[in-house]
Amino acid sequence: MGKYSYADTSSNQSSDIEIEDASEFYDAINRSALTHQLSETRPYVYWTLEIYDKQNGIKGGGGLGVLAADTRRIAEQLEVPFVVVTPFYRSESHQSISNMTQTEYSESASPQDYSFEYIDEVTIKTEGFPDASLSIFQKTLGSTQFITISEPNFGQLYESDGSGDHRLYQQVSLGFGGYQALKRVGVKPAVIQLNETATIFAAIARLDELCSNGMNLYEAIVYVRKHTLYTNHTLLQAAEPEFHISQFEKLVFPNIQSAAVAHWVREQFTDGMLRPNMLAIELTEAKNGVSKLHARVANFRDKNNERVKFHAVTNGIDMDTWVLPETMQLYRDKGVIDKFSLPTENYKERIADISIDDIRQMKSLGRQELNRVLANRKDQYGNPIHLPEEAFVFDFKRRFVNYKRPYLAFERLDSLRQILVDYNAHYLLAGKVHQGDHMMYQHLMDILKTIDADPILRERVHYLQDYDEELGRAMSIGADAAINVPVIGLEACGTSWEKDIANLKLLISTSDGGVADIKPIACLEVTGSSYDAEVSSLYTNMHKACQIVGNDFMLEGHIKKQLTAYLPTISGSRMLKDYLKFLFPENK
Ligand SMILES: *Cc1c(COP(=O)(O)O)cnc(C)c1O
Repeated sequence: MGKYSYADTSSNQSSDIEIEDASEFYDAINRSALTHQLSETRPYVYWTLEIYDKQNGIKGGGGLGVLAADTRRIAEQLEVPFVVVTPFYRSESHQSISNMTQTEYSESASPQDYSFEYIDEVTIKTEGFPDASLSIFQKTLGSTQFITISEPNFGQLYESDGSGDHRLYQQVSLGFGGYQALKRVGVKPAVIQLNETATIFAAIARLDELCSNGMNLYEAIVYVRKHTLYTNHTLLQAAEPEFHISQFEKLVFPNIQSAAVAHWVREQFTDGMLRPNMLAIELTEAKNGVSKLHARVANFRDKNNERVKFHAVTNGIDMDTWVLPETMQLYRDKGVIDKFSLPTENYKERIADISIDDIRQMKSLGRQELNRVLANRKDQYGNPIHLPEEAFVFDFKRRFVNYKRPYLAFERLDSLRQILVDYNAHYLLAGKVHQGDHMMYQHLMDILKTIDADPILRERVHYLQDYDEELGRAMSIGADAAINVPVIGLEACGTSWEKDIANLKLLISTSDGGVADIKPIACLEVTGSSYDAEVSSLYTNMHKACQIVGNDFMLEGHIKKQLTAYLPTISGSRMLKDYLKFLFPENK
């Protein structure tokens, strides 16, 4: 029996909705045949180099991992047999700020601390080095399982150069080691989802097994293609890492048994170099991008230089994890979402039935929740902060990477100061710089120094250290307006904006990623044909947001418009439904 439960342990509230078994969900999405196609021993298998699920001890780096964790939780709630194959990183990276500068420190974690069960060892072969032994740990959560692989030298997520031997070793371990692990626990994938190219060696391992068991290479390729989905999150093929054949000789080929498979992989190299996405393109029939815009613009070429076709499955979120429990209850009471957390047939009319009092009440509870979390966190000076209930709060919470433009609101300090003072507003910033991104270390330091030098900004702009799930959730729930301003065309999807809209909060955004699934976008849009124009548009929209929140009629209108437009996109159950429908067409 599946029971919804909120990830937030501070809330004792729990929904009483129950799903008997997956067949109910399969019926609801018109795929009753799935009852025969997916089972505990033939599950949906999701391969990912990153998962972000701190409750289960695994801390990821960002959006890709959050998505993976949400996908598993949704499968658990819907009783879908689902297995995640992922590394268990024993060392996780954290950020702290001292003297306006980011420093990193690490904390260790072990699978046993999170009640993972030790299963066995699997071996990865490396030319010129002794075999590496990887420990398999398993954890079952309802209809879902984690199969993790782990060893002391595995290192941290993304600790090394993207084209380096260590990263390739991590990918090889996850693919070949994970595949052996599945066999050890008696799981045969009904379908494999490759969450980004880094998991490609799972498909190679499967191909190798088929060929080693006597299947002809071309039949085996057809079989793997039919049963594997490639989910791409990168917009530019050339931005993906490239490896030299000598790296494959050392780390990949020793793990391939079939001479035919090894030969086929060698054939994919050009001038001794290969981007593994070429393997993913060849070995999967079903391919998807993670928003409509992304699927449309991702320009990937196969080896005949034909443009690769990506289907769009926009990322959703596990609403029960990211939305204030009281707001979820409101959605259920009002009939906005059903027991599967799918939008109901008449969700638009049901949303119309939400009142301004409901919205104000949720915002007030949300602010309390945000303050509860901030009391235990640190700003740039190492102090906890408390936001006045009546203050307006903006937030910018995302990885400090150039294309997301965390500095946009700091371009004209007079304009920023004026908004903060006129509307009694505070600005929360959170987001780590990717290790080694020197330009962004500098940007962060410049922003922190600017704040420090100005008494108004020092009082009203708070940089929160060590952005993580807890902060992401709290800011989504308790701020008034979120700022999401990626350079158009560079955000594959993004999901934090979905957390914001689902929590009845205003969104100020450029028309990019999943936000652009709806045209024109249904929020406060940052536009402009030049950088300066975009900066002006951002300030204009910040003014507007403050005015909207000060006016019941306008607030109700804007919040309902956003929610009505984006609820289906936001629903993670909708995402799983889309994947199941894509992977298991009716007349297959
Ligand atoms: C939601 C979330 C993300 C995803 O952020 P985007 O910038 O929207 O892709 C990343 N990190 C954390 C900690 C999150 O909670």
